[in-house]
Amino acid sequence: MAEKMEFKSEAKQLLNLVIHSLYSNKEIFLRELISNASDALDKLRFLSLTEEGVSVDPESLRIEVRSDKENKRITISDNGIGMDRDDLIQNIGTIASSGSKAFLEKLSGDQKNDSNLIGQFGVGFYSAFMVAGKVEVVSKKVGNDTAYRWSSEGDTTFEIEEAGRLESGTDIIVHLTDEYADYAENWKLRSIISKHSNFVAFPVMLESTDEEKKGELEQINETKPLWLKDSKEVEEADYEDFFSSACGGFGKPMKTIHTSAEGVMSYKSLLFIPQSLSPFEMNNIERKHGVKLYVKRVFIDDNVKDIIPEYFRFVKGVVDTDDLPLNVSREMIQENPVVRKIGKALTNKLFSEIKKMAKKKPEEFSKFWNEFGQIIKEGLHTDYENREKLLEIVRFNSTAGDSAEYRTSFDEYVERMKEGQKHIYYLCGEDYESLSNSPHLELFKQKEIEVMLLTDPIDQFVFPGLGTVKEKELKSVTAGDLDLGDLDKDEKEKEEQEEKRLKKFLGRVKNILDDSVSDVKVTTRLTDSPSCLVAGEGTMNPQMEQMMRAMGQ
Ligand code: ADP
Ligand code: MG
Repeated sequence: MAEKMEFKSEAKQLLNLVIHSLYSNKEIFLRELISNASDALDKLRFLSLTEEGVSVDPESLRIEVRSDKENKRITISDNGIGMDRDDLIQNIGTIASSGSKAFLEKLSGDQKNDSNLIGQFGVGFYSAFMVAGKVEVVSKKVGNDTAYRWSSEGDTTFEIEEAGRLESGTDIIVHLTDEYADYAENWKLRSIISKHSNFVAFPVMLESTDEEKKGELEQINETKPLWLKDSKEVEEADYEDFFSSACGGFGKPMKTIHTSAEGVMSYKSLLFIPQSLSPFEMNNIERKHGVKLYVKRVFIDDNVKDIIPEYFRFVKGVVDTDDLPLNVSREMIQENPVVRKIGKALTNKLFSEIKKMAKKKPEEFSKFWNEFGQIIKEGLHTDYENREKLLEIVRFNSTAGDSAEYRTSFDEYVERMKEGQKHIYYLCGEDYESLSNSPHLELFKQKEIEVMLLTDPIDQFVFPGLGTVKEKELKSVTAGDLDLGDLDKDEKEKEEQEEKRLKKFLGRVKNILDDSVSDVKVTTRLTDSPSCLVAGEGTMNPQMEQMMRAMGQ
């Protein structure tokens, strides 16, 4: 007897959105289902390496796509790990991953924008409901005796019952609606698969179009891993396919970094810097598509933590090495010295590519920085080892430019420093507009001393901890003791004289302001404004203070 169940509420919401989506590129549903099949095959292959009693002939692993035009049906089958009853309920009836939840939270309610989000990032299994009136999943988990059928018409419920399936694995049966019935055409399937799934690591089989081989299946994708090829032999379009079909990327990558190392370490890597990240990838620490680790062409782990630093979490791709045993335990990967060494090499490569981009392609770099700069700056706080490299690539707004588009590096700032200037000056605040009009800048403008204008929330945490950069101390222009060094010797004297002259007056002001300030001083810092608030020595800058207050401190 089939048992009827309700989707979890988020799943309902997502389904609803998918079905009513205006998204035009419906064909990506096939890419999502094939990529799930490929994941299931990867999981099985990995299990056979680590689990005794599970043996698999790697040659037999494959994905089959069959179509039945008459019945408007497409079936995607794999002989992968399969699902039991609980898996079906958990993985398909619920949206378990925090990624999809974050995705839902991002939704604006504006159908046009929201459907665009789906189009960009795909929503996995559920995308089948863009073209289907009903989807069935028949699956048998490896090592189990019973198979189950899950089915749903994309309304609020799904059903589960026992089913017949001899081998372990999964069939996804997509019952197309009349409108999308032509997806069951062989030529159409062929073109979609070549376009979106060409570099899936397992054979994707489709019925031959040859009259004489009617009914026979033939492989239509290329399974030689792209990363093993010589980069000179790879077309740009192939990289793009791989980026979206195997790495969960969208559109074209911003940068493709294909390297091969031999000698002390031997590995091949194919890394991508995307144009942008989906909103959930941006915030979600447990992302799926980071750098995947392969050992001798066999997939080992999706997202090896710390293989590259957390602040490069936007990087996607693959690294494949011959220097590890196939049965390397997943738990130990992170500590493995070979993995660490490779990770270090990849990290250095990323730094050098980013530096090269900054130098040779400033416009591209500017886009890159807009997208990922905030994330990278986290490294200044967390990664002491790569501090110097990070300091070379970070960028900030500054008074040397005349708009928020202008950004400077530390190097450029230091080059422009005035003779006698000892420090690197900065001012933190919420936005460029208000910062560039701050009274704190008056003296600096007058003396033509450059000030970095820091608008990212992270800057306020990172800067005070940076200490000296290029042997120059970092100083907030809101600090009480400004110390412009030789730049304002005269000013110092003038201040002292005025302090004496106005002693009585200052005392009165202090009395009136009473507890609200700790001191009142004469200053030559201001040219247009009569007075301003500054932070005392050893106290927090005003933004920091505001932030702490907001946190209830
Ligand atoms: P994702 O692939 O990002 O996890 P999906 O919505 O595409 O999200 O799939 C949801 C889950 O359903 C998968 O994580 C997996 O556990 C399970 N699943 C889907 N298709 C298959 C399949 N062919 N074989 C085994 N498990 C599958
Ligand atoms: Mg998926």
